[in-house]
Amino acid sequence: MHPRPRRRRSAASRTLAGSIIAATLVIGAASTIMVMQMRRSAWDQVGGVSQNLLEAVEHMVDRNIELYDLSLRAVGEGLRDPEADGIAPNLRQLVLFDRAATASGLGAILALDPQGQAFADSTAVVPRPLRFPDADFFLVHKQREDAGLYIGKPLRVESDGRWVIPLSRRLAYADGAFAGVVVGTIDVAYFNALFGRLSIGERSRIAFFRESGEILVRSPMQEGVIGRSLMEAAHFPRFFEHHSGQFVATGYTEAIEGLFTYSRIGDHPLVATVMVPTDAIAALWRPKAAAVVALVAVLCGGMVGLTLLLQRELERRGRAEEQALAANRDLARLANTDGLTGLPNRRHFDEAFARAREWSQQTATPFCLVLLDADRFKRYNDTYGHLAGDEVLRAVARVLQRQVRSPLEVACRIGGEEFAVLLPGASGPEAVARAERIRHAVARLRIPHTGNESGIVTLSLGVAEAVAGETGGECFSAADAALYEAKRQGRNRVVAHPGGTTATQVA
Ligand code: GH3
Ligand code: MG
Ligand code: MG
Repeated sequence: MHPRPRRRRSAASRTLAGSIIAATLVIGAASTIMVMQMRRSAWDQVGGVSQNLLEAVEHMVDRNIELYDLSLRAVGEGLRDPEADGIAPNLRQLVLFDRAATASGLGAILALDPQGQAFADSTAVVPRPLRFPDADFFLVHKQREDAGLYIGKPLRVESDGRWVIPLSRRLAYADGAFAGVVVGTIDVAYFNALFGRLSIGERSRIAFFRESGEILVRSPMQEGVIGRSLMEAAHFPRFFEHHSGQFVATGYTEAIEGLFTYSRIGDHPLVATVMVPTDAIAALWRPKAAAVVALVAVLCGGMVGLTLLLQRELERRGRAEEQALAANRDLARLANTDGLTGLPNRRHFDEAFARAREWSQQTATPFCLVLLDADRFKRYNDTYGHLAGDEVLRAVARVLQRQVRSPLEVACRIGGEEFAVLLPGASGPEAVARAERIRHAVARLRIPHTGNESGIVTLSLGVAEAVAGETGGECFSAADAALYEAKRQGRNRVVAHPGGTTATQVA
């Protein structure tokens, strides 16, 4: 049995694996780019929609403030009109607040005197006894002439708990001295109602706040958020990096990460912002990306699976081929080997003989052939039995194997009790010396052989050196003749073919 051939990857199998790895990498890279583009386009889309939404919010707020400011200015102008003094209170109220905007959500307009006491009221002929001497809008106008339209901190109306945003302007005497404040309010709920009409994702937020941080409106409305300051928020300064812009941050009133789009509202110290949670943006592209990834994984998995199958088939064929080759080699070796001794047989001898002669002709080196024959072997069999005879032939074969040195030298069993040794590169005298050594080595085994003259198993050897121009058959015949001569001279000896070295005999 031959050892199982080591599992070597064939070139075809390696090429296959290489191309499939390359293809998988290419597909992987392409799908990664695709997924990244999906993500990019989802973010761009949300960014664009937020921008449009923010513009609408900005416009709404700015327009409402502008309208309301017109009302405040009208009241201020009315109060400065000398004709307004002295007319009946109900008429005066009508004149003063005639141009006041009266949309729902736009609250009462009051005129406050320099002490903060209401002296004119859009809702009552006799002003309600209201006082705001400590309100921020009152103090600002009292201290500064140039406050213009002032948008104050949000207030909670005590009577009904509504949140309102106070808008105010300074009143002045002819000499510019502080004459009080005209103030009106806009309901926070009014803005919430306006923003509610804008189509916005369920989890998105719209808000606007003062530059000093106080949240004025937040949609959807959330109790407890109005009036809170954003000053502490880590991302607060980012709203002031540009007039408008976008950034990703975690919210302050809710710890949700989102894309913030912001912009200043007109010329007012207000900032409007739209926030879309990053989760909501991810929901736009992740399911599609997951489908793409799954598809690509199935595709690549299929390709890899098929490749493995193909590879296995290629390897199976490769192994079968190797096994067939090994079997052929075994057969060839068996066909060239002698079953009894394990030495190369006659068939192999003929080929090796031709090759060795050719080699020595090409390299211009000598070549010798030694033929060996066991002496009186028929008698040995007769005396000790055929099986014992076989054992002797094996012993002789072992001696020959030991005596053969270089890979070029070959010892063969060419017949029943006949052997041959090819000695390429050896001259006649060298070959005779080698033959002598073989003869001695067999004699030293001292295998009893009563039918032989010397009483032990011995060999007779004939040596012939190849001569230029001679055929292989002639060379063989010369060695055979020398062997015959050795037999004739009394066996257990080496005889060289005439022209070569003389025979020697050792007892
Ligand atoms: P000589 O000294 O002249 O060579 O005498 P010999 O008896 O050796 O020569 P011969 O040619 O008469 O006999 C050869 C014998 O070798 C005959 C045969 O029984 C024996 N022989 C041949 N092949 C085998 C073999 O494979 N095994 C055994 N045991 N004997 C064999
Ligand atoms: Mg013989
Ligand atoms: Mg013999």
